[in-house]
Amino acid sequence: MDNIKENLKLVEDKILKACRFSGRNRKEINLIAVSKTKPVELIYEAYRQGYNTFGENKVQELIKKADQMSKEDIHWHMIGHLQLNKVKYLIGKVDMIESLDSEKLAREIEKQAAKKGVLLDVLCEVNVANEESKYGLLIEEVPKFMSFLSGLPHLKIRGLMTVAPLTSDPETNRPYFRTLKTLLEDINKKNIPGIRLDTLSMGMTGDYEIAIQEGATMVRIGTGIFGERNLTE
Ligand SMILES: *Cc1c(COP(=O)(O)O)cnc(C)c1O
Repeated sequence: MDNIKENLKLVEDKILKACRFSGRNRKEINLIAVSKTKPVELIYEAYRQGYNTFGENKVQELIKKADQMSKEDIHWHMIGHLQLNKVKYLIGKVDMIESLDSEKLAREIEKQAAKKGVLLDVLCEVNVANEESKYGLLIEEVPKFMSFLSGLPHLKIRGLMTVAPLTSDPETNRPYFRTLKTLLEDINKKNIPGIRLDTLSMGMTGDYEIAIQEGATMVRIGTGIFGERNLTE
């Protein structure tokens, strides 16, 4: 079906190459197949190839697909900006919210997760290049945010996520990936109660090899697996 099998093989080869180049183990990298705008038939094709964690950036679309593809071993990550009033729909459907970008949102996730008695994994989104158009905390805001999160018992902060600048030369994003990794290490050194970060979600179709070289433990790949998205969608 389309070229998903071949695409995944290519992506897998590049991930392996980046791991080898930087002395890392493939097992350290969690590949999130970003399936936004793509139909469930294509997502099933990736699932049949052995991939079971999918990323979506819109709540309604995520819920619809999660309900259609309800299986024990299929997992969903919310990766897009999240409105407060939609948090309640995600609890119990997603394994991780990667796009936590404000105290208000954290409070709402805490409230809804507490209601359902679940502990939810989250990542803090960081606007690492300080781009006007991007969501996420600025680097200097992150340490204080971590202390705030340590007081929310139903929210498990696992690490940091970033969407690096769009670029035709992925090398230009290397410093940003390095900065995010340093930020994660600095936070861990502070020994904030309940805060032990182990996840660095960085790298997309255009730059995941560089991100892996710089310490990504999670890469989010859409176009490289499912092909170009229809821009009108
Ligand atoms: C769409 C999206 C991706 C995947 O982008 P590609 O360039 O298609 O790999 C990754 N992360 C986020 C947050 C996205 O919205």
